Amino acid sequence: MNRQNNRSAKQTASNQSEVSDQKALLIGCGVAGPVLAMFLQRIGVKPVIFEGKPEPRDDAGFFLNLAANGTDVLETLGIEEQVLEHGHRSEKLVFQNHVNKRLGENQQETVLIKRGHLTKALREEALERGITIEFGKRLTDVEIPHEDMAIAYFDDGTEAHGNFLVGCDGIHSQTRKSLFPGAPEPEYTGIIDSGAFTRNESVPPSDGIMRMTFGVNGFFGYQKVPTGEIYWFENHERSQAPRRRELDEISRSQWKDKLLGLHERDHEPITEIIRSTDGDIRKWPVYDLPSLSTWHQDTVCLIGDAAHATSPHVGQGASLAMEDAIVLVKCLRDVEGVSDAFTAFEELRRERVEAIVEMSRETRNQKAPSNMITRKFRDLVLPFFLKQGVERFEQIYSYRVGWDEPIEVVE
Ligand SMILES: Cc1cc2nc3c(=O)[nH]c(=O)nc-3n(C[C@H](O)[C@H](O)[C@H](O)COP(=O)(O)OP(=O)(O)OC[C@H]3O[C@@H](n4cnc5c(N)ncnc54)[C@H](O)[C@@H]3O)c2cc1C
Repeated sequence: MNRQNNRSAKQTASNQSEVSDQKALLIGCGVAGPVLAMFLQRIGVKPVIFEGKPEPRDDAGFFLNLAANGTDVLETLGIEEQVLEHGHRSEKLVFQNHVNKRLGENQQETVLIKRGHLTKALREEALERGITIEFGKRLTDVEIPHEDMAIAYFDDGTEAHGNFLVGCDGIHSQTRKSLFPGAPEPEYTGIIDSGAFTRNESVPPSDGIMRMTFGVNGFFGYQKVPTGEIYWFENHERSQAPRRRELDEISRSQWKDKLLGLHERDHEPITEIIRSTDGDIRKWPVYDLPSLSTWHQDTVCLIGDAAHATSPHVGQGASLAMEDAIVLVKCLRDVEGVSDAFTAFEELRRERVEAIVEMSRETRNQKAPSNMITRKFRDLVLPFFLKQGVERFEQIYSYRVGWDEPIEVVE
């Protein structure tokens, strides 16, 4: 049934009674899941989070940047301080070429945080607020038996029933596959990303700057944080997607040698940082998700990477997932009917997130020119591109979602 033209926005108080006491099934306890759960609780909905991993994996993943548009959502929830306790301010990004020539900068402040610290803090805040999180519940299928219900089936043979279900299960979302079997799959972007943490006394102390180098064969970024730890990452091109587990089969020392070779013509301390890394160097192919024709059906909706995964080049995936969470709950609060709330959500979010996915793809193209001529050309045009980028970044970072402002839906 298409109820698109039949929607009405309601004031907070009136609609709150309509969704309150409903049970929401949230699939995935990464970034979007716990944030969504805490906002749902605010409007009286009873969320239960089902996470596929048997137990929390706080060492999983790497580090990411949270931008002001993301940290603002945490502030609205009243958990900014607790969550960011383990983060470090990045006062600006400075871009250089392989011989250390400064190409530009981006003055937007962000927070550098280990992904495991972020997800742990979000999970603990959700638990603190009495939200149920069930581990070892890997979704295998969803069913929509009628317009007020959704059923989740799990790989341990159990099932859960709720009034609606939200897939917060990331880029390889099973919710998406079950709901839209013909939907596009994530696409390999031609980039291998890797990175690690190290300590190195010869690298100058932290000045709150993330330095990023467009190197001869790859892109390298690092920041030394006040604890003395260096957070670093590297991107290089590879045309064919690696087969499953291929990168895992490469030993740490082989990978280190590869990165040292790729960056041997770049300025220091790049190879020094790579050389001094004794711990694990993580590596993975970068994927993003082509635009889906829709993000929802009846009582089931996708948010975060499940709906619109972006490559990491503009550092927005986690921030967008949190924005999604607050906007979706405002829609459920202010729009009559769950399905229509999902429609309103998608209308409000699609243009912004797809522009950011596209911008991230464009940024990726600057990272790995193949020869001296294209490199020279890049160094010439990059300062202009970066200047332009600063304005676009400002637009992205300045986005705010006021909790108290009602959602307005055009009939
Ligand atoms: C290398 C890299 C660097 C990045 N850098 C940045 C950055 O600087 N800034 C930024 O904002 N973002 C960055 N991101 C993106 C960011 O990590 C994601 O966009 C963000 O985590 C999305 O949140 P999510 O909740 O949608 O998905 P996720 O955080 O991926 O959470 C999904 C959860 O669902 C669970 N799950 C999966 N399948 C199932 C199932 N079948 N059943 C039950 N549970 C399931 C998973 O175990 C996981 O806990 C980066 C990503 C990568 C890969």
